[in-house]
Amino acid sequence: MSTIFINGKWADAASGESIDVINPSQGEKFTAISRGKAEDIDRAVLAAQAALEGEWGRLTATERGRLLCKLSQLILDNAEDLAQIEARDTGKPLTVARNDVKVVARYFEFYGAAADKVHGQTIPYLDGFNVSVVRVPHGVTAHIIPWNYPAQMLGRTIAPALAMGNAAVLKPSEDACLSSIRIVELVEEAGFPAGALNLVTGFGYEAGAALTAHPKINFVTFTGSPEVGVMVQEATARNHVPCVLELGGKSPQIVFEDADLDKAAPQIVRAIVQNAGQTCSAGSRLLIQESIYDRFIEKVARLFAEVRVGTPEMDLDCGPIVSARQQKRVRGFIDEARASGVPVLAEGKIATDAPSSGFFVAPVLFGQVPRDHRLACEEVFGPVLSAMPFKDEADAVALANATEFGLAAGVWTENGSRQARMARKVIAGQVFINCYGAGGGVELPFGGMKKSGHGREKGFLALEEMSTIKTVVQNYN
Ligand code: NAD
Repeated sequence: MSTIFINGKWADAASGESIDVINPSQGEKFTAISRGKAEDIDRAVLAAQAALEGEWGRLTATERGRLLCKLSQLILDNAEDLAQIEARDTGKPLTVARNDVKVVARYFEFYGAAADKVHGQTIPYLDGFNVSVVRVPHGVTAHIIPWNYPAQMLGRTIAPALAMGNAAVLKPSEDACLSSIRIVELVEEAGFPAGALNLVTGFGYEAGAALTAHPKINFVTFTGSPEVGVMVQEATARNHVPCVLELGGKSPQIVFEDADLDKAAPQIVRAIVQNAGQTCSAGSRLLIQESIYDRFIEKVARLFAEVRVGTPEMDLDCGPIVSARQQKRVRGFIDEARASGVPVLAEGKIATDAPSSGFFVAPVLFGQVPRDHRLACEEVFGPVLSAMPFKDEADAVALANATEFGLAAGVWTENGSRQARMARKVIAGQVFINCYGAGGGVELPFGGMKKSGHGREKGFLALEEMSTIKTVVQNYN
C-alpha cells in the first residue's frame, strides 16, 4: 500500500521498503505501510513550502475554514468505515472508536468555524503612526502523533494548524496510522490544494527524527513519550524552532471523605480502563482520604472486578494493548509490583474467547501502594490503578504533586472552598472537580506542566500556538 502523500499524490517510500502492520487483537500482520525516511521527509517539507507560496497560501481564512468544515462532514459521512479502521489498527472497542471519529469531525468543525474569527490588534502609538499586530502562520509545521488515539490526535493537531494557514507534514505512529491514511484520502476528496497537508508514514527514529531536524520546518508539535520529547526538543533547538510537547502523565484522582462516593467510583474506574489505560491523562493514581479508604476502595474493587477485556467486535470495556512491546512493558510493571508485595485488590477479566495471540492485559487495582514505589511515580500506560491513602488536605496536595508529571487531576469533594483550594494547589494542566474528562472536550485548552510537556492544544489557545505575531508600524506623516 502506498501510504506517503506528498504534494497531493500518493507514493511509496523512496527506499521502496515497508513496515508490517499488526492487528493487536490477533497478534498477526494484516497489511503494510510505506517506510518513509529522510528523503521522503525532505520532499514533503519542500511540498509544504511550495504550497505556502501557491494556491494554499493565497486562500482567505474563510476559504480555509470552509475546507475544514467540508472535511468534517466527509469524516462524518465515512464515520463507520473510519471507526472500523481505527478499531482494527489499535484494538479499541468499536464504541470507543466510533466516539473517537465523532471527536475528529468536531475538531475540524470547531477550527473550521474559528478560522476567520482570529483577529489582530491595533496599538495607539506616536502621532502619525498606525500600529497593527497581526497573527500569521508559522509556515511549515511538523506534527508527530502517537498510537493511542491516532484519529483524535490528527484532528487535534492538524485542524488548528491548517485553520491558521500553515502547511503541514504529519508523521503518525508506525504502530497505528491507518486512520491517518484514510483521513488524508478525505482531505484529498475535500479539495485541499496540493501540499497543504502531507503525510509520511515510517519509524520515529527515521522519519520522525528527520522531520524534527529538518532545517526548513518552522514549528513542531509532538505528542508522545517524555523520552522522545527530549530528543524532539533537542532537534528543534538546533534550528531555533518552537515546539509544543504533549507528553505523559501520572494523574491523580483525589477523593475526600465528603465526596459523593457512588458518583465517583464508576468514573474513576472508567478513567483508567478507558483505552486499556493507554491515555496520557488516564487517572492512574487513586488518592483516598484515610477515613474512608476501606469503604471506598471496596466499592472501586467491586467495579474493577467487573471490567471485561476483548476484541473490538466484542465491544467490552477495553481492548488489548497496542503492541507486543507495550504489552511486555505493562506486564513488567504488574509482575514487579506483585513480586514486591503490593496487594492486588481486584482484577478485570479477559474474555475467554479473545484470541490468545492478542496483546491483552487484565486490568489490575493495586492497594496501599508505597509512595516511593515505581507504580506510584512512573507512567505505566496500561490498565493499572494504584491506590494510596492520604491524611488531610495538605497531605493530599503533597501526594498529588509528588510525581514529575502534571497533566490532569480529578478532585472529588462536595466542599466548595476545598474545591477552589485544590484547583489552585494541584499542579496540572487540567483539573476536574467531581468529574473526569481525560483530556476534556475539543473546546478546552489541554497540555502539561512539569515533565508532562509545555504549550497548549485544543480550544482557541491552539490557534495561538499554531501561529505567531507580526507587529506592523506604518508612518503616515
Ligand atoms: P513515542 O514517544 O514512542 O512515539 C510518539 C511518536 O513519536 C510516534 O509517531 C513515533 O514514531 C515518534 N518518534 C519516536 N522516536 C522519535 C524520534 N527520535 N524523533 C521523532 N519522532 C519520534 O510514544 P508512544 O509510545 O507512541 O505513545 C505513548 C506516550 O505518549 C506516553 O508517554 C503517553 O503519555 C504519551 N501521550 C501523551 C499525550 C498528551 O497529549 N500529553 C497523548 C497521547 C500520548
